[in-house]
Amino acid sequence: MKLRFGRPRLDDYLAALAAVRRTLGGEYTLMVDCNQGWRMPWDVQAPWDLAKASEVAEELIRHDVLWMEEPLYRGDYPGMAALNAHTGDRLKIAGGEMTREPYEFHEMLRRDCLDVYQPDAVCSIGMLGLSRLAREVTTHGKWFTPHTWGNGIGLIANLHLTAGSVGPEGCPYLEFPFDPPEWPPRPATIRSSLR
Ligand SMILES: [Mg+2]
Repeated sequence: MKLRFGRPRLDDYLAALAAVRRTLGGEYTLMVDCNQGWRMPWDVQAPWDLAKASEVAEELIRHDVLWMEEPLYRGDYPGMAALNAHTGDRLKIAGGEMTREPYEFHEMLRRDCLDVYQPDAVCSIGMLGLSRLAREVTTHGKWFTPHTWGNGIGLIANLHLTAGSVGPEGCPYLEFPFDPPEWPPRPATIRSSLR
C-alpha cells in the first residue's frame, strides 16, 4: 500500500502513517509518495529541500517504509543522489514519473539518484522506449515500476510494458490507483475506461 504525502500539514500525514502501520501490523509493505517532483495548481508551498527530505526519510525508516517516492524536485539530481546515499539500504528512493527524456534517466542512473524508476508509458517515451529503459534500469540493479494514474488504459499499457520487459523480478510492484470515485478498488474501473 502506498500513501500520498506532500500537502501543507506534514504532521497529519506522519500521524496517518503511524496509524496505518499500527493498524496493518509490521508485515504489511508500505510506501510513501511525497509528491515533490512536480507541481500541481494547489501546490503553493515551496518544495522540500534536502534537509527536509532527509528529516522525513528518517520518520519513514522509523515506520519501516519500503520506498520514499518523489522526495525532491525531479531535476534535483544532486539532492536525490545525496538522499539515496544517506538512506542506503534502510529506505529505497523512487521517482521519475514525470521525467520524459532518455538523457534524464541516464543522468539519474549515472548519479545513482534512485532505487526505483517510475516512468509511465502514457507520459514518457512510450512502450518501446520504456521497455528498453526498463531493461537498462534493472541491469543496474534497480527496480522499474511505472507510475499509473489517468485511466485503466494507461494501467493496462504499463502492465503490458512491465510484463513484456522485466517481469515481476524487475517490477515487483505495479501501481494500481485507489481514488474513488474515478478509481474504485474494482476491475470495473478498467472495463468502464475501455468502453
Ligand atoms: Mg507518484
